[in-house]
Amino acid sequence: MDRRDFLTTGGAIGLASSGVLAAVPATAAQPGPAFSARPASPDVAVIGAGAFGGWTALYLREAGHQVALIDQYGPGNALASSGGETRQIRAGYGEREVYTRWVLKAFDRWQARQAEWGRELFFRTGQIQVTKDWSATLTATRATFDRLRVPYEVLSPDDLRKRFPLINATDGEFGFYTPTTGVLKAREGCVAVANSFRRKGGNFITAKAVPGRREGRRLLDVKLSTGETQSAQSFVFALGPWLPKAFPEVLGDKIRTPRRVVFFVGTPPGDERFTHPNFPAWGVGGAYGFPSIEGRGFKLAPPLDDIAVDPDLQQRVLTAAEVQGARDFVARWFPALRDQPIVDGRVCQYENSVDQHFIVDRHPDFDNVWLVGGGSGHGYKHGIVLGEYVADRVTGRENNAELIEQFRIKPATFPT
Ligand SMILES: Cc1cc2nc3c(=O)[nH]c(=O)nc-3n(C[C@H](O)[C@H](O)[C@H](O)COP(=O)(O)OP(=O)(O)OC[C@H]3O[C@@H](n4cnc5c(N)ncnc54)[C@H](O)[C@@H]3O)c2cc1C
Repeated sequence: MDRRDFLTTGGAIGLASSGVLAAVPATAAQPGPAFSARPASPDVAVIGAGAFGGWTALYLREAGHQVALIDQYGPGNALASSGGETRQIRAGYGEREVYTRWVLKAFDRWQARQAEWGRELFFRTGQIQVTKDWSATLTATRATFDRLRVPYEVLSPDDLRKRFPLINATDGEFGFYTPTTGVLKAREGCVAVANSFRRKGGNFITAKAVPGRREGRRLLDVKLSTGETQSAQSFVFALGPWLPKAFPEVLGDKIRTPRRVVFFVGTPPGDERFTHPNFPAWGVGGAYGFPSIEGRGFKLAPPLDDIAVDPDLQQRVLTAAEVQGARDFVARWFPALRDQPIVDGRVCQYENSVDQHFIVDRHPDFDNVWLVGGGSGHGYKHGIVLGEYVADRVTGRENNAELIEQFRIKPATFPT
């Protein structure tokens, strides 16, 4: 079995330690050039430097593999689903306990990476969810939290008003507060991951990549928009909302990319009541949001619309109706901010899978091509764990049947 077979059949266990591949210490940053000399054919080419691809590439590199990480616009760019300022790292997942477990791992890992990189990317804001009833999901979340010992508080309507008087809850609404959750820097996190990858000897390439030559069930290389080709033993396409465009025959009707808008509302001068650490992340009235962090403003993600968009082509301009909707929402739920200006707004898109589970699976026509995505509006926080999972799948270290089933490309499609 040659090295190529190891990477495609899952026989790569122990390759790094056996010295077959150039080993890189797992934690020590490698000195040396920001861009390493390009190996003729790295073990793995990861296409897409968002939360999923970036972490995958970093873990592969840290495990000793030669890795090329390729992105058309750069890590956490303005078009990517991982772009923008912040993402919530919440732990409540109803019955989908595996995601809660991953979030608990993610908490520790983000703290370790902050220490490694000397920059603050994880803000433990806590999260308050305001609701009228114990939905099946919230009930299951509470049971999961009890099992996994995730701290939480149930706040009666009176306690909710006392603890969070700035939220204009209606009669009968109560609070579910999770103090250990928080907020992650999104774009900045992707840049930090890519920088670490480079420092450790990974090869970052800015280019658009499309599948190139094939030999039977093996992809030999990708064609780059620079005119070059990049060969590798295995390929991971972590293209986020670009996956259905790039692989329409496999994922065209299995990933949907609805437009999403977010707003930042200015906080009153000299008033830190809506600012971390004085205000938590929140889920209220069908929307969710964030305290102001580093002066960016109080962030609000209003309820979903469902217009599918093209991530390359959609005009990222907020409509007057969206702006008015945000203003009305703020006036209704956070009256102390009613007269504050909107200081920023962004247009992005989700990349939803049919069942909202992530997708980590081989391309059905190739033994050495992996498709990774389907973040479904909750993927950012998981990149730091999912990346290692993908790296281990690609190199054959991970074979948990339940997770393979959970993340496989399912037959179900979105209605056309
Ligand atoms: C508004 C909004 C709010 C969200 N809120 C949360 C939240 O609170 N908590 C949470 O955990 N998650 C949240 N999410 C979801 C989360 O951000 C995404 O699931 C996650 O970031 C997806 O990462 P990704 O790497 O799969 O995709 P992306 O970040 O989109 O990365 C894909 C990358 O592939 C590159 N690419 C595509 N095609 C090519 C090609 N052919 N060649 C080269 N490069 C290519 C792109 O340039 C891009 O950088 C939210 C998402 C949005 C949009």
